[in-house]
Amino acid sequence: MREIAAGALRALALCAWIAAPAFAGGAPADEDWQAAGRRAVAEARALAPNVRPAKNVILFVGDGMGIATVTAARILDGQLRGGSGEENLLAFEKLPYVALSKTYNSNQQVPESSGTMTAIVTGSKTRAGVLSVDSSVPIGDYRAVKGHELTTLFERAEAHGLSTGVVTTTTITHATPGACYAHTAERDWESDARLTPEARADGFKDIARQLVEWPAGDGLEVAFGGGRSFFLPAGTPDPEHPQAHGERLDGRDLTAEWRARSPKHRYVWNRRDFDALDPAESPHVLGLFEPGHLNFEVQREQDVAGEPSLAEMTVKAIEILRRNPRGFALMVEGGRIDHGHHAGSAYLALHEAVEFSAAVAAALARVDLADTLVVVTADHSHTLTISGYPQRGNPILGLVVPPDARGNPSSAPALDLSGLPYTTLGYATGPGYPGASDQQPEGAKRLPHKPTKVTGVRSGRPDLRNVDTQAPTFLQESAVPLASETHGGEDVAIYAGGPGAQLFHGVQEQSYIYHAIVAAFAWDASGTAARSEAQPSEDQRNASARPSFWQRLFAR
Ligand SMILES: [Zn+2]
Repeated sequence: MREIAAGALRALALCAWIAAPAFAGGAPADEDWQAAGRRAVAEARALAPNVRPAKNVILFVGDGMGIATVTAARILDGQLRGGSGEENLLAFEKLPYVALSKTYNSNQQVPESSGTMTAIVTGSKTRAGVLSVDSSVPIGDYRAVKGHELTTLFERAEAHGLSTGVVTTTTITHATPGACYAHTAERDWESDARLTPEARADGFKDIARQLVEWPAGDGLEVAFGGGRSFFLPAGTPDPEHPQAHGERLDGRDLTAEWRARSPKHRYVWNRRDFDALDPAESPHVLGLFEPGHLNFEVQREQDVAGEPSLAEMTVKAIEILRRNPRGFALMVEGGRIDHGHHAGSAYLALHEAVEFSAAVAAALARVDLADTLVVVTADHSHTLTISGYPQRGNPILGLVVPPDARGNPSSAPALDLSGLPYTTLGYATGPGYPGASDQQPEGAKRLPHKPTKVTGVRSGRPDLRNVDTQAPTFLQESAVPLASETHGGEDVAIYAGGPGAQLFHGVQEQSYIYHAIVAAFAWDASGTAARSEAQPSEDQRNASARPSFWQRLFAR
């Protein structure tokens, strides 16, 4: 252990990189860990919680952005900017408060997004697959929804006269954005064409219709994402991709209905119209930039009609929402981090995570943490791992190249038991499975009675010696062959800054996020949105808060 540490320090000393920016928690540019540690402690001691009620909240959700994804994206971001990578911090990692979020659904150990987002925006865990209804509602049982809707953070914000916005890179009706405004028994009911025939015949509202007809306050001020086909009648050619069509069976054009709601309701579907939006003239904007999900960030520039980035949508949303003097609540989802992972592509997932960080940075540059609570979290993790013993500065998407035996930089890749190199990043499940089970005649391994060394491995892995593992099309290897890589069940992080951010501490249930935001707004903690909610005293706020981390620790 000591040798490894000493070797690592020698490698660090040899490694020159671009000076790290001077921010809290950053690595020292001069490698003086002692001085840097003392500076970080001084900053921590000077940290004073902001106990004023929040005026605004921005909730950022990196879909599938587990901690391994954050670490790998941090390194990729640093390397894209010419650094070694490890010393870098993503924008949200500079926020002062961090907690862990336990992400399981009411019925699943490893969760999915509609159940997790319901927990985040309503304060109650529920089943995987349903949106903002309680855990009694079976998946697909539309008749069970009535009376079991859970009030969302955004519905409460509207009841308080705040402006509300939802921004995503997926369809605007997808699980994460959908949980903010829709109440339904099946996350896939994005248009009426996807309802069951009985639900359709009974007039149960699909998610797109719930967005346009959202009864909270004066409706959403901002909805930016994809999913045009769910808003256009079946047979209507898509304006950008004529081979695509609307799919609504009720014949309604929900984009036209949105525009018809008032002279201040706008609908945009391309970059030109997005860029032309005047925040002062655009109090209610629906922006749908693709028939389905938006492009991955790395493909966005090739889009036919042009498409704003997540950062650009975030900035526009803030400019529109902050015109309300009473404040706003905005949700911004980096929705395709998850899609990159499901495809088994760390390249796609990490580039999406880097863009997500850019969106947080753009927001932090435009809001004042004195009155705006910024919360950044993930709904769940994925099975990405960062492993092997790559040397400092090794390309994060590359083969594992460890330091040499003396701990100095090397160019020789590490080899596995079959003599082949391997990548730093891998998945537990997914389409990158390289092995063939009929080439493993020995069958499943069992723990031996006494330690034995595995030898004689000759097959089961691809030869990556001449493969560009950093190419956009490379799929990381997975241990279990699945068409779609799965979510991961370990905790994810919550990063927070601004009024009430100090509530994000310790290990919390995911549903805590809603309650902490309600407390930061100084809203009535009972959850009755319609009641007049006078500003509670500091004592009332404290009484409604959960016991502190230390109280709970010592109560055991
Ligand atoms: Zn997913």
